[in-house]
Amino acid sequence: MKKLIDLHAHTTASDGTYTPRELVNYAKEKGLSLIAITDHDTIDGVDEALDEGSKLGIEVIPGIEIGAIFRGEMHLLGYFKSDNYKNINLLLNRLKRAREDRNIKIINKLNELGFDISINEVKTFSRGKIISRTHMANLMVKKGYVKNMDMAFDKYLGEGKCCYFKKSKINPEEGIKEIINAGGIPVLAHPIYLHLDNQKLGELLQVLKAYGLVGIEIFYADHTNEYIGFLSRLAQKIGLLPTGGSDFHGANRTRSDLGVGKGNLSIDYSLYEGLIKEYIKESVK
Ligand code: AMP
Ligand code: MN
Ligand code: MN
Ligand code: MN
Repeated sequence: MKKLIDLHAHTTASDGTYTPRELVNYAKEKGLSLIAITDHDTIDGVDEALDEGSKLGIEVIPGIEIGAIFRGEMHLLGYFKSDNYKNINLLLNRLKRAREDRNIKIINKLNELGFDISINEVKTFSRGKIISRTHMANLMVKKGYVKNMDMAFDKYLGEGKCCYFKKSKINPEEGIKEIINAGGIPVLAHPIYLHLDNQKLGELLQVLKAYGLVGIEIFYADHTNEYIGFLSRLAQKIGLLPTGGSDFHGANRTRSDLGVGKGNLSIDYSLYEGLIKEYIKESVK
């Protein structure tokens, strides 16, 4: 039988709605053998997930998702071993502060536009320490300012919209190198969201590979089969390992379910084995 995995999922430690324990239970329910916890800018969910994973016989990989400066933002995933993931905390603390500064700017702008919203109210939608635009969108829906979360992003919070402010303070090179220095494996998340044509993406990947990028998230809910084919050929040419995940956020992003994405995602355990092999090579240098 095929062993299936999911290398991209969020918990209540950032902007998911499943606690780490609930997420691991859900992975079991979905028949997955392994999941990575990849919360935005935090590893707070990892300990609990590792504990639940060992109880249920599900492999849990400590991970993160960080944003680097790139037009809007370039998302990088970092994967760690269960005994070394805390070294990344220095970088994450910096990113958390940048996030808090940006959050104040967004709230001020929303207030200027006449929305009665405070950061403390936004915090009631977050169960961890990371406050994200997701939680702002939750509050705007609750207050009746917008019909749904998509509208909150489309009208106000999304990239290029009136209340959008950049958050990241690190560039892609720094992000990749910090993940490696902390003992992790850097992977480019959802390349589709970079909005680059195929040639430009190829050029960018060459540069990121020279910085130390190891993998690219090829299997992703918003990638068409055609795009997956293109990315697979490109990754092979450049020497990047393929990875994949659903970007599961529970009720905060219902269009992609754990393990299966929009229904047809199916990520094989061998992708994870490929990553770990690379990691061992790196760590004995
Ligand atoms: P932040 O990390 O605070 O910049 O917030 C970004 C998060 O907002 C992403 O990680 C997504 O989970 C969420 N997001 C972005 N666009 C949308 C959308 N159109 N609908 C719902 N959630 C979104
Ligand atoms: Mn998110
Ligand atoms: Mn992302
Ligand atoms: Mn994500």
